[in-house]
Amino acid sequence: MSRETRTRRKEIEKARREKMSELMRGYDETEFYPALNSVKRECAETGHGSKNYHDNGLGWTFTSCLDCGATLAKHGPEGQIVIPEQHGQAPYNGSEED
Ligand SMILES: [Zn+2]
Repeated sequence: MSRETRTRRKEIEKARREKMSELMRGYDETEFYPALNSVKRECAETGHGSKNYHDNGLGWTFTSCLDCGATLAKHGPEGQIVIPEQHGQAPYNGSEED
């Protein structure tokens, strides 16, 4: 029974996330991401602040700026190094899981 409860809870939470994304889409595109990207661009121009280090537990590590939140680099389990497009569209979705 607890598995069924967990599944139902996750479905309800997923539906809420999807509804929130739908409701916020216009605001995010016209206000949120442009403002956030402006902050990241200005921070990059003056040199990012202290670095934060994340480990997702699956072999990937992430370095980000503590001041603006920009992801500066991702390092994969097989030596991959990914430098995200800086200040591109929608780098932030509130979660690392997709
Ligand atoms: Zn920064």
